[in-house]
Amino acid sequence: SLLLQGKVALISGAASARGIGIATAQLFARHGARVVILDLDESAAAQAAASIGPEHRGYGCNVTDKAACEQAAERAVAEFGQIDILINNAGITQPVKTLEIDAASWDRVLDVNLRGVLYLSQAVIPQMKRQQSGAITCMSSVSAQRGGGILGGPHYSAAKAGVLGLAKAMAREFGPNGIRVNCVTPGLIQTDINAGKIADDKMADIIAGIPLHRMGSADDVAGTYLFLSSGLSSYITGAVIDVNGGMLIH
Ligand code: NAD
Repeated sequence: SLLLQGKVALISGAASARGIGIATAQLFARHGARVVILDLDESAAAQAAASIGPEHRGYGCNVTDKAACEQAAERAVAEFGQIDILINNAGITQPVKTLEIDAASWDRVLDVNLRGVLYLSQAVIPQMKRQQSGAITCMSSVSAQRGGGILGGPHYSAAKAGVLGLAKAMAREFGPNGIRVNCVTPGLIQTDINAGKIADDKMADIIAGIPLHRMGSADDVAGTYLFLSSGLSSYITGAVIDVNGGMLIH
């Protein structure tokens, strides 16, 4: 059956062709949602949305730009009349070590992964409060829980750990408004963020340490986003769901 019939979902970072965001947009559309893809480039976002179907939309929106986030939310409300679901999925990483992190890298990684979650949530929460319902799911990472060690640097771990605290605080604040806020913490998922960036021998070591013995797929994460955005998780808020094949069992 359709889990998101009649729902409107905003998904950030969903224009990348092999990414978690577009896989999520496709799955949500199959479950009856109308999807708004937000990504850096307006035409890439619009093309990605059109590839799913004519009822979906793609807007240019840099999540580090508060005004752009507000405009995207206003546009979605003008076009669809409601916002039921937000997926804070946009993110970037950088493989550097602690002593190599300069101010600009710190700002860039913290801004997209953490500040962007705040800005886009701030943009949609007023509408969700008017509706007295909503589901927000934020992208963290196993890197937040185990201190990196796969691809992202310590600033990425810090940003993704910050997402956990921010999401839990929003869950507490907006629960009384019927708004649920949860996080996903994926392990190693096969997308362009890591494609070709991990040496073969290191990859073999990583997979040997994963009980399910494979990398995750974008669809593995999309399914978890679907669960957390649907009525199946109606009493779950402030939760952190691991999607890591058992890489970190705790
Ligand atoms: P991806 O690079 O394919 O997707 C990231 C998307 O975010 C791209 O479409 C990019 O254009 C967009 N984006 C970047 N900066 C943006 C900004 N300022 N505003 C709006 N959009 C922006 O990679 P992915 O693996 O699909 O990543 C999706 C999310 O999953 C990221 O937050 C990433 O950190 C997280 N994650 C990935 C893995 C993994 O192993 N692939 C593991 C844990 C967490």
